[in-house]
Amino acid sequence: MSAKGVIFIVSAPSGAGKTSLVRRIIEEVPGIAVAVSHTTRPMREGDVDGSDYHFVDREEFEQLIKAGAFLEHADVFGNYYGTSSQAVETSISHGSDVILEIDWQGASQIRSRLEDTCSIFILPPSRDVLLQRLRGRGTDSEEVIERRTQEAVAEMKHMDTADYILVNDQFDATLAEFKSVITATRLRSGRQIVENSQLIDGLLSG
Ligand code: 5GP
Repeated sequence: MSAKGVIFIVSAPSGAGKTSLVRRIIEEVPGIAVAVSHTTRPMREGDVDGSDYHFVDREEFEQLIKAGAFLEHADVFGNYYGTSSQAVETSISHGSDVILEIDWQGASQIRSRLEDTCSIFILPPSRDVLLQRLRGRGTDSEEVIERRTQEAVAEMKHMDTADYILVNDQFDATLAEFKSVITATRLRSGRQIVENSQLIDGLLSG
């Protein structure tokens, strides 16, 4: 018998390197996928609809809320974001693990609703690196950078609610730590007892 998949919740301020880490995890760790969220935020250059997000307007998003389509949803800095129940259930009911890249509000909703979750918070290595990354290509106004900085600080204030905190100093080392968290979570006794029920029955018989 196989246990249901684990829900890995990954949160971070923008500029912490979360997306690159998650991309490598998906490429290198078998049995794990990312759930594609819905959002009302406008598409950015390089965004692919259906792959980065399902981009919808506010009316459609509100209809989905009413229809009970979301496992969690939140207003993140003025735009709606949500994880559809279907995206998660399809994965975990087949025993595959799933990563949700969501903010602290969504993370707290998921933790209070579901059991087999593991939450990870990713931090940038220093304030300077954070500011550098938030400045991006240097084409944004000071006002935009200041707003991004405040949003990043607001997200980081909730790091203590996560099960694990990774400091993304050296990418490869952080990737290895991320993989260790996945391995350890997969080995939790409750899951191992379900996964190895035949072995355990045999070991305990007579
Ligand atoms: P961005 O628009 O820059 O991709 O993401 C902005 C913020 O929204 C990030 O903190 C990201 O983790 C969060 N976010 C993305 N998808 C979801 C979601 O489905 N639910 C929630 N609650 N937050 C999300």
